Amino acid sequence: MHELSIVTSIVETVTETLAAYPTARVLEVRLRVGALASVIPESLEFCYGIASEGTPLEGSRLVVNVLPVVMHCASCGQNVELEGVQSFRCPRCGEPSSDMRQGRELEIDSIEIDDGEVKG
Ligand SMILES: [Zn+2]
Repeated sequence: MHELSIVTSIVETVTETLAAYPTARVLEVRLRVGALASVIPESLEFCYGIASEGTPLEGSRLVVNVLPVVMHCASCGQNVELEGVQSFRCPRCGEPSSDMRQGRELEIDSIEIDDGEVKG
């Protein structure tokens, strides 16, 4: 399963990050996932329960924040947010663009522990 291997590597990364906080209890791990990252957020959240079992992250929650696709439109001269992933045309002027600036991210945004927050 695609999502399970992604989540497993996230759990490993977070576990390494938390080595510096040996007494910390993890409450929440927040991810930034682009709309084009070809993963299903619900599936990531589901797999997280499996992947975190028996690790210091067991019992914590995975929160997936989906980022919209942002492209740079040469005619408008600015970055524009797409409403969906069906069309790669500028929503302002209708020009097609392939200059993508956001949408394929898959990264840890932050980790919430019982005594604060750790940036991913
Ligand atoms: Zn435009």
